[in-house]
Amino acid sequence: MNRDRIYLDYNASALPRPAARAAMMAWLDCPGNASSVHAEGRVARKKTEAARDALAAVLDCPPQAVTFVSGATEANNTVLQPHWKVNEEDVVFERLFVSAVEHPSVLSGGRFPADRVEILPVDGDGLVDPVLLDARLGETGGPALVSVMTANNETGTVQPIAALADVVHRHGGRLHTDAVQALGRMPVALETLGADAVTVSAHKVGGIQGAGAIATASGVAIPALMRGGGQEAFRRAGTEAVGAIAAFGAVLETSDTFAEEAARIRRLRDWLETELTHIPTQSTVFGQKANRLGNTSCFALPGVRAETAMIAFDLNGIAVSSGSACSSGKVAASHVLKAMGVDDALAAGAIRVSLGWATTQDELVEFLRVLQTVCKNSCPQGQNEAA
Ligand code: PMP
Repeated sequence: MNRDRIYLDYNASALPRPAARAAMMAWLDCPGNASSVHAEGRVARKKTEAARDALAAVLDCPPQAVTFVSGATEANNTVLQPHWKVNEEDVVFERLFVSAVEHPSVLSGGRFPADRVEILPVDGDGLVDPVLLDARLGETGGPALVSVMTANNETGTVQPIAALADVVHRHGGRLHTDAVQALGRMPVALETLGADAVTVSAHKVGGIQGAGAIATASGVAIPALMRGGGQEAFRRAGTEAVGAIAAFGAVLETSDTFAEEAARIRRLRDWLETELTHIPTQSTVFGQKANRLGNTSCFALPGVRAETAMIAFDLNGIAVSSGSACSSGKVAASHVLKAMGVDDALAAGAIRVSLGWATTQDELVEFLRVLQTVCKNSCPQGQNEAA
């Protein structure tokens, strides 16, 4: 890792933690297929099951409820199928409801035909209203699958998942939550969330790219998307990515430190946002009034275009994102900010700073220094002088 650079893009991919690196190196020294019966295979199986135990402990569910997949995109696509089994009975979902601020892997609707997918609007803070969901479900004949993310990747806004789950269950439906950004940053116990399915990704919590997981509530069985071998108890065919899974497990085994770490990071983020108010132009922090993850700050400064700012940051050794980095690096208007009713000109300047386990205050000081320069060169004169 090139530590001369300042990495402030943990929501795109967190820097791998030392525990993940050590586990990956150990696996490279003794690789094997978790389905093989020889010693190498047995070691791979042991590492996979240890990781399953560690994730189950964090999600507070039995290890058998966890299925490893390649990442959250696959996990979300697997969950969003119109047929599930619940308590051995076939359930056919009439409709799929997804919030307007979901990751593209959910917004695309998975295996549901497009005419059976409905988008749930959000308010100015990016939140889904349980009352509105109640009304929409009331108009739907038959059970619905509802997918609302635990926390947003662009703004960090945390949804009222437990309240939404109550509404969904009252209408005989099922709730999925994409907890990719929440894992490690807030509690994500399945039962507390009230979700029937939760999806997560290793590389957002300081693991290594290539592993993710689905956890299901008691009685819920989701059909395999990948068919072939009998891996993952026939729930996901294909050789498990044991190195990435072991690294994920090693990270999750340190979960007793997550709350303290999240509090430290929140203090840094709050300090950063206070410093933003000292920049001589009016900044807007998106979702600031809502319950938000403590590591994320998505903001805009009038006159500053995100692409210009990102190039300047990159040249100065700092990695940040504009809005979402999930669409092949292209700088397009953020569908999240659009759904929140943010005006296009302001949204075009959205810069997302996301902090993580290795972030220091000195790094944020340097970020602010470069931001001041960018602002001096781009902000409207009058506003620059106004402070
Ligand atoms: N959901 C959310 C909220 C995300 O932020 C991401 C990654 N940007 C994904 C899903 C997709 O995860 P993966 O990269 O593991 O496919």
